Amino acid sequence: MKLFIAGEWTDSTSGEAFDVVNPATGRIVDSAPKGTREDTRRAVDAAKAAFKKWSVTSPTDRARVLFKLADAARRSKEVLGKLLTQEQGKPLKESVLEIESFANTCDYYAGLATKLHGTSLIIASGKVHADVIKVPVGVVGAIIPWNFPISLLGWKLAPALAAGNTLVAKPASNTPLTDLLIGKLAEEADVPHGVINIVSGPGSVVGSELLENPDVGKIAFTGETATGREIMRGASSQIKRITLELGGSDPMIVCDDADLDLAVEGALWGRFRNCGQSCTSVKRLFLFDKIARRFLDEFIERIQEIKVGNGLEPGVIMGPLNNSTQRKSVERMIRDAIERGARLLTGGKRPEGRRYQNGHFYLPTVLTNVEPSSSIVEEECFGPALPVFTVENLEEAIEMANSSIYGLGSSIWTRDIAKARLAAERLETGTTWINSPPIARPEVPFGGFKQSGFGRELGMEGLEHYLEVKSIQTDISGKQKMWKYPI
Ligand code: NDP
Repeated sequence: MKLFIAGEWTDSTSGEAFDVVNPATGRIVDSAPKGTREDTRRAVDAAKAAFKKWSVTSPTDRARVLFKLADAARRSKEVLGKLLTQEQGKPLKESVLEIESFANTCDYYAGLATKLHGTSLIIASGKVHADVIKVPVGVVGAIIPWNFPISLLGWKLAPALAAGNTLVAKPASNTPLTDLLIGKLAEEADVPHGVINIVSGPGSVVGSELLENPDVGKIAFTGETATGREIMRGASSQIKRITLELGGSDPMIVCDDADLDLAVEGALWGRFRNCGQSCTSVKRLFLFDKIARRFLDEFIERIQEIKVGNGLEPGVIMGPLNNSTQRKSVERMIRDAIERGARLLTGGKRPEGRRYQNGHFYLPTVLTNVEPSSSIVEEECFGPALPVFTVENLEEAIEMANSSIYGLGSSIWTRDIAKARLAAERLETGTTWINSPPIARPEVPFGGFKQSGFGRELGMEGLEHYLEVKSIQTDISGKQKMWKYPI
């Protein structure tokens, strides 16, 4: 694999590359260039040069390019999906859906590219008129995590290009391959050279250069809250625009009047999809006392049906964790919870057998009696383990749900929609799903409260973060009385 800079495929200037390892088998999938600061600067220069033309390309033409990119992604979804499973670990079906989600995001922002507009104001008729227009920020640095490498690239690439910006993307070092192949789609879609550049390499090198390079106007970052703090610090020296999509510890509340079958299904999907490695995975479950037993009996029974294995094997529902650090972190949290008195209802160990021995597999795990100060509750648990709490009423559920430094997503399950709407207003999270697992849709803004970040991706609101507001005031009277204005 090579870097994609200025429409060309190139090795790293250092000549170095790093191996990308399949988390299910431990085998090397391919290698990716270890991009340097020099490579990153070249990519930024290419994006800056391309910006001159792309920013004044008509919105219709920008939309056309994004529609073509979406089509190219759909045509390659099986090939890209397979590669994504090999480097990330998720089941093939989820990978293919992720490529489709990239395409859908491109389509959505292609549609919006032609709807961008400003406003005009008459301040004093015949004397002072003002126009408020929206202009692109310039070169966008997109820093991508490994859990959804393709959809989260799309969340940044599509609005950036629709608004007239150009892009340098830095994939996560665990999953650079599918992201680099987006360069091939860019070629197929005739994206002008330099509008999309992709540079793999360490966060401390490629990511830092994007942060420090004065020609990068904005950083769109998704990743851990701890890294988000570093990004904030780094961006401060140049007051660089940033959006931060960070970690979460999403609560799911199941009331006693909920459709329990539906809620069980939601908890299964919400916690174990992508092996629990989603920012909006259900990470804390709150069950009303009255239904807790019934819910848990059904939930635990259904968990036994989850087939764990290599995501390329048919029928596999849950793949491995993406890397050993991640599995160790989940194991540490489960150990800590049990040491503090938690009861293990299922899982709590690695699956046994030869087919699992070289991968980072872990069994779906459920814990009750969890001490609220346990690390599995206080930190983000990025893996297939779920602490369950029983509550007497909604008041208690909301209070416990809100007692987290995170505020990304939440869900409430009840047949009483009025009650759910009121609860949604009180839950301190960027999104609340009612009777639905955490599904992100291109039309709906997505982002966090509290330490889950700031700014929004997706929706109209997502586009605004790729635009500067520019006011143009015109004095058409030619008789300005300058001294009468205070500022
Ligand atoms: P990391 O924060 O470890 O890494 C994210 C990206 O940042 C990677 O490309 C990484 O590069 C890069 N990076 C690391 N250090 C620096 C640095 N000092 N300067 C610039 N870039 C840097 O996150 P993960 O990849 O582990 O992703 C999982 C996290 O993402 C979870 O916390 C999850 O909740 C969060 N997430 C949030 C979402 C949201 O929308 N709120 C959505 C999805 C995930 P490298 O790989 O080379 O280290």
